[in-house]
Amino acid sequence: MNRPVSFLDLKAQQARIAHRLRPRLDAVLAHCQFVLGPEVAELEGRLATYCGAQHCVGVSSGTDALQIAMMAEGIGPGDAVFLPAFTYTATAEVPLVLGATPVFVDVDPRTYQIDPAHLSARIAETRTAGRLRPRALVGVDLFGQPADWVALNRIASTEDLFTLDDCAQSFGAVLHGTRLGTQAQATATSFFPSKPFGAYGDGGALFTDDDERAALYRILRSHGEGTTRYEVLRTGMNGRLDTMQAAVLLAKLDVFDEELAIRERIAGVYDRRLSNAVVIPARVPDSVSAWAVYSVLLPDEAARTRLQAALREAGVPTAIYYPRPLHRQPAYAGHHDGADLPVSDDLSGRILALPIHPDLSDADVERVCDAVTQALG
Ligand SMILES: *Cc1c(COP(=O)(O)O)cnc(C)c1O
Repeated sequence: MNRPVSFLDLKAQQARIAHRLRPRLDAVLAHCQFVLGPEVAELEGRLATYCGAQHCVGVSSGTDALQIAMMAEGIGPGDAVFLPAFTYTATAEVPLVLGATPVFVDVDPRTYQIDPAHLSARIAETRTAGRLRPRALVGVDLFGQPADWVALNRIASTEDLFTLDDCAQSFGAVLHGTRLGTQAQATATSFFPSKPFGAYGDGGALFTDDDERAALYRILRSHGEGTTRYEVLRTGMNGRLDTMQAAVLLAKLDVFDEELAIRERIAGVYDRRLSNAVVIPARVPDSVSAWAVYSVLLPDEAARTRLQAALREAGVPTAIYYPRPLHRQPAYAGHHDGADLPVSDDLSGRILALPIHPDLSDADVERVCDAVTQALG
């Protein structure tokens, strides 16, 4: 059998960008400002320009970006934070860490994004129950595609909710002609290595157009310190982006648009070759995906298990995002009000992610397509 197809290939990427990476890392080793060195400010400036936001604040991870944004609003006990049930655990973990309560919302069966109509229903239910105060909405741009921010913002403004965009998987995606980063009052992204814009360790960033929020995010990421080092203004955290990761990201930013274009091209091949065999992901209207994940749907869980096994046999790796929606997770079930989330339940049983990354060769893309069509033919 041929060598297996890679699900993600950070070694190939590293070889491709080595000439950009080495000088960047050597510069950090030369100046030794490992925490909040000049590369952090340079990256913040370039990323703010890249997505058109007034401010970018580099932080220690996507999860910490979400946490700092919620801490800045004073979100805590008694507050309801609305978020999709079909997402990565970090989205729901943060409100709970702060003493707030996640209220799970179902997603759209075709785009997998948070369902605005169900959000409205969940806000109304929460108000009627009277136990929690509707306080914030975390819209997740899942798998690289943008959520429906026009609809989400309309609802959030009527309901007076703080809006936070969990853009961990979708930095670089475009909605209505603009890159994500300015759709919500604050946008959080992640530089975890496997994300489309990944570092060589943990990292993240917050984007906002609001001067006061940006200033507060800088204070909170450094222990709540004021202008002098030993004046503590707020309860903060150690949440800074480190300089080495900023240097890696500066090297990767130079090739990021090319990588996004390759991901888009691969998605196009999958769409054309696989649409008769499986349910391909529906595109969010007027958007360009960052294609963190390309997930298809099988008729049921047994069919998914069979296809996954056949692909493994053919040297094609797959992954399941997410095998269990958050309201079914042991850590969160006790915080769930019991509402039905049928789409999240259904997707988790039959969704399957295929390899998509910028170092996947055309021959490998063909191999994936052949393996899928042969297994299902
Ligand atoms: C990866 C991810 C996060 C967390 O990012 P980290 O940098 O790993 O902390 C948050 N939300 C979503 C949707 C993610 O995919």
